[in-house]
Amino acid sequence: MQATNTQDALYSNLKRYFGYDSFRENQQDIVETVLRKKDCLVIMPTGGGKSICFQLPALMFQGVTLVLSPLIALMKDQVDGLNANGISASYFNSSQSQDEQSRIEARVIASEIKLLYVAPESLPALQNILNEKYISCIAIDEAHCISSWGHDFRPSYQQLGFLKRVLPNTPFIALTATADRATRGDIAQQLRIRHAKQFMSSFDRSNIELEVRPAEDRVSQITKFIKQNPEKSGIVYCLSRKTTEQLSKKLIAKGISAKAYHAGLSFENRTKVQEAFVNDRTKIVCATIAFGMGIDKSNVRWVIHYNMPKNIEGYYQEIGRAGRDGLKAKALLFHSYADVIQLRNFANGASNEAIQIAKLDRMKQFTEATTCRRKILLSYFGELLAENCGNCDVCKNPPEIFDGTILAQKILSAIYRLKESEAIGMIIDVLRGSQNAVVLEKGYNTLKTFGIGKDISYRDWQHLTIQLINQGFCEIAFHKHNALRLTEFSKTVLFQGAKVFLAKPVHIIQPTIKERTK
Ligand code: ADP
Ligand code: ZN
Repeated sequence: MQATNTQDALYSNLKRYFGYDSFRENQQDIVETVLRKKDCLVIMPTGGGKSICFQLPALMFQGVTLVLSPLIALMKDQVDGLNANGISASYFNSSQSQDEQSRIEARVIASEIKLLYVAPESLPALQNILNEKYISCIAIDEAHCISSWGHDFRPSYQQLGFLKRVLPNTPFIALTATADRATRGDIAQQLRIRHAKQFMSSFDRSNIELEVRPAEDRVSQITKFIKQNPEKSGIVYCLSRKTTEQLSKKLIAKGISAKAYHAGLSFENRTKVQEAFVNDRTKIVCATIAFGMGIDKSNVRWVIHYNMPKNIEGYYQEIGRAGRDGLKAKALLFHSYADVIQLRNFANGASNEAIQIAKLDRMKQFTEATTCRRKILLSYFGELLAENCGNCDVCKNPPEIFDGTILAQKILSAIYRLKESEAIGMIIDVLRGSQNAVVLEKGYNTLKTFGIGKDISYRDWQHLTIQLINQGFCEIAFHKHNALRLTEFSKTVLFQGAKVFLAKPVHIIQPTIKERTK
């Protein structure tokens, strides 16, 4: 076949089966590489258009393309969608009877199916057809699930390593929206496709406005936000099932119609909520991260994170569900110190604890950023943004930097006086001279540092202290009840006259300190 003929065929199939006139970034290159039977590793953000990359070649191959996908719940929808476009597709998973499974096998053998969606754990049941006589291509969707470096590791994916041995001449296409280097390398290695051609699409979604706010009175803030954006579809992501239910009730009480969604609901209920959302009958869903995977809805106008996500990949994937149509959309994240501690506790004892904690740290740095957030986000995915984006809260409202040396000295000396045994709340109570029971009981009211920071609000002290933590001037001892302790850099501030520059909290009252504290 001549190159131009292939191209003509590509475009006519693209139009005929999918209704598109042109390819998006990288799509054509990927499709052509697969058709040349070369392995590919495709890294493309959510909504970037990964499906075409294996669905289009599948139509043009002789045999069947197996699509490994972790989401049994969504297979039927995906297959229905393909069938509706005139593409012969089916799925194979544990929800089906033996009979049904045998029928599908027979159809594969008879070359009646172009795409077969399979759950990795169902592969052993497909042994009869795992043969290059029938199979033309292997697509591994959500390929990061194979890696414990990824954010959604699934043991069932680990067995996919054997596929390349059984099907050595079959092109493999692994797809993911997770781009960190370690995960990428691990995917290629575990799938035994180390020579795969890599395709990285830009992760910039410049139409999504980014904003981070402190988590105070979230329900009122969210209510206000929704009322300012009436009739718009949006998702509020929460950490726990309980929060999704409580929040949706609170919103309903404020006259906002919202639904809850989490993995604890019945399959029927979940499907109902999902369908209502996709069809615009439900505008707002309060959900755990179980919601959204594989949902194809282009007009989600906003995504709110009620709680802090546990890493940047997750955050990026979730906000990426907004504005898929390229029109203006908004991502609003509430960050709280309590969330960080809770996520930190979740990570405790996990087999990849160190990785999880490092990722959480990056997330935390993002929320506390005082420079363009999109730059930080993209740099995480290995992309450099030349200019500040102009479409995040930091760009729109850059913080004022001031010489915070004296304030830093106060905080650090309070930590020192409290023998590095108290968490942030107590440190601030002592600085502000709170006469609460614990303070009095422990005799903290007699300390030299007691009450030396009365003129600054609790919230502002919190903001300032977190900046000190971020800059490495003090740290949280997570294994010691989150007590704040000093670091090697603390003494440069306390004893060696090092200056500390901090971003001004919005409501800060200018300190009027005469006396130096130590
Ligand atoms: P992903 O799997 O990367 O999240 P999808 O494959 O579901 O993304 O595609 C996201 C959206 O983009 C879908 O609505 C899809 O129909 C649309 N899309 C994909 N490729 C094209 C294209 N070449 N032209 C126009 N729309 C496209
Ligand atoms: Zn910016």
